[in-house]
Amino acid sequence: MCGIVGAVSTRNIVPILVEGLKRLEYRGYDSCGVAVHQGGGLKRARSTSRVAELDAATTADGLASGTGIAHTRWATHGAPAVHNAHPHFSSDRIALVHNGIIENHDELRVELKAKGYVFESQTDTEVIAHLVHHLYDGDLLDAVQRAVPRLRGAYAIAVFCRDEPHRVVGAREGSPMVVGVGAGDRAGEHFVASDAMALAGVTDQIVYLEEGD
Ligand code: GLU
Repeated sequence: MCGIVGAVSTRNIVPILVEGLKRLEYRGYDSCGVAVHQGGGLKRARSTSRVAELDAATTADGLASGTGIAHTRWATHGAPAVHNAHPHFSSDRIALVHNGIIENHDELRVELKAKGYVFESQTDTEVIAHLVHHLYDGDLLDAVQRAVPRLRGAYAIAVFCRDEPHRVVGAREGSPMVVGVGAGDRAGEHFVASDAMALAGVTDQIVYLEEGD
């Protein structure tokens, strides 16, 4: 189980996401990635190298946005390869990162393939992205709330949607997740992370999500 950082702000949050991943590197990982809402769509950079290389790729690719999610992966389903690295997309509309394991991923994959979804990875994570996409009807929070009862296993997820540029939704069951709230000059900023350490220096206003919250 590895690292998640997500952010919504009026400033460019890519440096915060990358710095957050660097703070989580000590946990170990085999790949990493960042996705942002940019130019009316989803943009991402992924790497099987170090977060420092991902950092360089985000600069080279011109990733900049107030809304995004980032991940360090420790592969459980699917080889450590770029196409299996998070964030995963569904139809260039939903972007999602996930820590943990979805035990019923096979049955969900069969169901979603039958509905026409094409899978680009071997991960259990990609089924969540397509499931949220399938359930999306204009309200991302509602789609995630309807998706999570279908998931068995331990997970923390962070998701955003092309159609809701200023929103990141997080959920957890059996894997840790915190919410960081911007204070002072930074009031209005919000963060999610799998570990408060990822948000050190960004905000000290941390809400620990308990199961059932
Ligand atoms: N099970 C997911 C995967 O293999 C997430 C692994 C993790 O927690 O990093 O991609």
